[in-house]
Amino acid sequence: MVLDSHADIQQVIDDFIQTSPENTMKMDPDEPSWDRALVGFSSGSDPVFESFKEHVGEFHFTPAEIFNLEFPDNPGKPEDLTVISYILPHRQITKKDNGAEDFYPSDRWVMARFPGEAFNEALRRHLVKSLANNGIDALAPTLSAHWKIEISPRFSYASRWSERHAAYASGLGTFGLCDGLITPVGKAHRAGSVIARLKLEPTPRPYTDHRAYCLYFFDGSCRSCAKRCPVDAIVDDRHDKKICWDHAGGTCGAYVKKKFNFDGYGCGLCQTKVPCENGIPKKLQSR
Ligand code: SF4
Ligand code: SF4
Repeated sequence: MVLDSHADIQQVIDDFIQTSPENTMKMDPDEPSWDRALVGFSSGSDPVFESFKEHVGEFHFTPAEIFNLEFPDNPGKPEDLTVISYILPHRQITKKDNGAEDFYPSDRWVMARFPGEAFNEALRRHLVKSLANNGIDALAPTLSAHWKIEISPRFSYASRWSERHAAYASGLGTFGLCDGLITPVGKAHRAGSVIARLKLEPTPRPYTDHRAYCLYFFDGSCRSCAKRCPVDAIVDDRHDKKICWDHAGGTCGAYVKKKFNFDGYGCGLCQTKVPCENGIPKKLQSR
């Protein structure tokens, strides 16, 4: 298969989601972690990536910066690179289960976060390999040795390549009050991306405001995510990452270890049983 169009890339991703045995929650009886992906594309020369240095941290890579660390002997110009970004939506049953919880994450949520994220990593590797089989250099930034979490003066911690920011750049959604990315398939998802030495038309960004799909930033209403948070990590118009992580990583991490016997974590209550769980809130769909 030649990979030189949006449809070709979507097909590779769809096929892997449908056929890979790694799309599993490792539950009994077994079931897949993820529904069909939403895929978007952005150019390596898009100035939005430079702006992430201001909004995330100076350490956040542009596509060319991380690409050229990976391919130092054959660097790529920004305009010759495409960021392929995808959203893996949680299945309805996973969202329903987590929506019924009010403190700890549901079992399905935990299993989608861990075996499910292992699939996300496998999908990144599969996409890189499929591109390489077509003679196209590519890398998955979050699997690169150059990727890591940094301390951000603005956000307490942040990563050198944010999957949600790559998705925002690629026309897939905007940020909600709880910092989750609200997409046409909702906010309950995992994201992934790959940078390829490939010229593809960018997906239009149907927004200019990075909060365009959040009801709170539209008219001060909603705040359902803040009400769902069991530890009040969403205060005024800010998501406090430390309070969130103390719960999701600390309290829920200990719960996951005890119940499932692996080192995990999770919460996601603010992503379920909220108006942006399954899509852009109706009132904002024409924006
Ligand atoms: S639940 Fe409401 S306030 Fe929170 S991100 Fe979604 S739309 Fe915004
Ligand atoms: S993930 Fe959990 S702890 Fe963090 S903001 Fe959302 S509901 Fe609160």
